[in-house]
Amino acid sequence: MITPYTPVSSNTLEQLVAIVGLDQLSTTAAELDLHSRDAGHHPAHQAEVVVWPSTPEQVAQVLALANAQRIPVTPWGVGTGLEGNAIPLYGGILLSLERMTRIVEVHADDFQVTVEAGLPHKDLNEKLARYGLFFPPDPGANATIGGMLANNAAGIRTVKYGATKDNVLRLQVALADGRLMWLGSRSIKQASGYNLMQLIVGSEGTLGVITQATLKLVPVPRYMSAIIAGFPSVEQAVETVVAVRGSGIDVAALEFIDETNTRALNQAGTDIAPHPTLLMEIHSAHEATLEADMAIVREICEEAGALSFRATADLAERKTLWNARHHAYETLVRNHPNQRIFIMDVAVPISAYPELIAYARQVIDEHGIVGYMKGHAGDGNIHVELPYGDEATFEKVKAVNGAIVLKAIALGGTSTGEHGVGIGKAAYMAAEHGTALDVMRTIKHALDPNGILNPGKVFPSS
Ligand SMILES: Cc1cc2nc3c(=O)[nH]c(=O)nc-3n(C[C@H](O)[C@H](O)[C@H](O)COP(=O)(O)OP(=O)(O)OC[C@H]3O[C@@H](n4cnc5c(N)ncnc54)[C@H](O)[C@@H]3O)c2cc1C
Repeated sequence: MITPYTPVSSNTLEQLVAIVGLDQLSTTAAELDLHSRDAGHHPAHQAEVVVWPSTPEQVAQVLALANAQRIPVTPWGVGTGLEGNAIPLYGGILLSLERMTRIVEVHADDFQVTVEAGLPHKDLNEKLARYGLFFPPDPGANATIGGMLANNAAGIRTVKYGATKDNVLRLQVALADGRLMWLGSRSIKQASGYNLMQLIVGSEGTLGVITQATLKLVPVPRYMSAIIAGFPSVEQAVETVVAVRGSGIDVAALEFIDETNTRALNQAGTDIAPHPTLLMEIHSAHEATLEADMAIVREICEEAGALSFRATADLAERKTLWNARHHAYETLVRNHPNQRIFIMDVAVPISAYPELIAYARQVIDEHGIVGYMKGHAGDGNIHVELPYGDEATFEKVKAVNGAIVLKAIALGGTSTGEHGVGIGKAAYMAAEHGTALDVMRTIKHALDPNGILNPGKVFPSS
């Protein structure tokens, strides 16, 4: 790869040591390898040095140094991204936030918390439990708050609580030139100036490095129930999704898994019959409201021809269900030992969901490959998992992926609902955004004129 960037020299390493300290940086093969790939299928690429700053000021100083020397910097949370978002394609500095994990302050009376960006969200929620509060976005993997903000991660609870972008009030960000600033405020209402905070959210580390964030919290619901409903056909399951959303019931999770995925979940502890299935969760402050909502959902499922309907308020059963759902991808990987899994992510308006699912199945079958489908159906978001073990199958997988992405865009949706653009979706940015992609380039150039921040991501290579 021809690179316009400067390699990391021994002089640069000395300057980095002066900023972060000797034990906060590594050039060992093991560390470079550990930070060379994320959880997706994209090929690995190594940085030249891994740096672990421990303060926002150190992050800013590392960026200023890299910018002056034209060294690429790739921010890193814990590498659970799936689109190659954090792979250091051009080498340079891998800037890991893994050691910035402090809770700076819990503003319990305001239902807010200020944290450092490297804090994993599950660790945050464990610590918030004693306040009776939690941070709702849940991408399954124990991703960092910075990585979730950078990818605008979503997950199973988005249908009720929104994506990461909906649960943030304020960000501290270091720009490529080393300026450190706060964007947004701790007020719920904000109408002051351009919304630069939301520009950084979802920018995948290409516009700035998030060092701290103030997040919105919600009270842990008093009553929760999980529902598993099996259907004779994918169409009936998917149409039920639209009906449940249309009923006005405020479901906290509304997940679709196809028949093949029920087997993966059962390997992780559930006992779900092999049918197209909906997994739901309802939260409520009152037991009676919860029961009334469950009765309506049961009625909708039965009217749609559900073969089975199981509702449980049992904590252990609920935990087993969601644990299995969160580990379904890993189970799938284990079930295909000598293959890689191409996991794709698109989203459409909820009314177009049945058409998208039917199209995806048709294209997969036409290409004669194996494909598993599951998704956050309540948000119109689907993941198609496509195993491949040789070049010929990989070519078919890419063709299927391309067809489904373009279909999602044609249906008024998007090439990515939650995994971000990274490397994998860059090719579709022009089709999805048209002229707006030029405006994105202008913004990128204004904030990062030397292109040091996470190069090779979001924008298609020219
Ligand atoms: C089993 C599994 C299930 C998943 N399920 C979901 C799901 O349901 N929903 C979902 O949304 N995602 C899901 N993901 C994907 C992943 O968890 C998210 O993309 C997550 O946001 C990545 O966070 P991370 O901390 O691992 O970041 P990384 O993967 O390390 O980085 C992701 C991106 O953020 C940038 N970045 C990281 N930290 C910062 C920072 N402080 N400042 C600026 N940029 C930064 C990186 O450069 C990169 O572009 C899943 C992943 C796995 C492995």
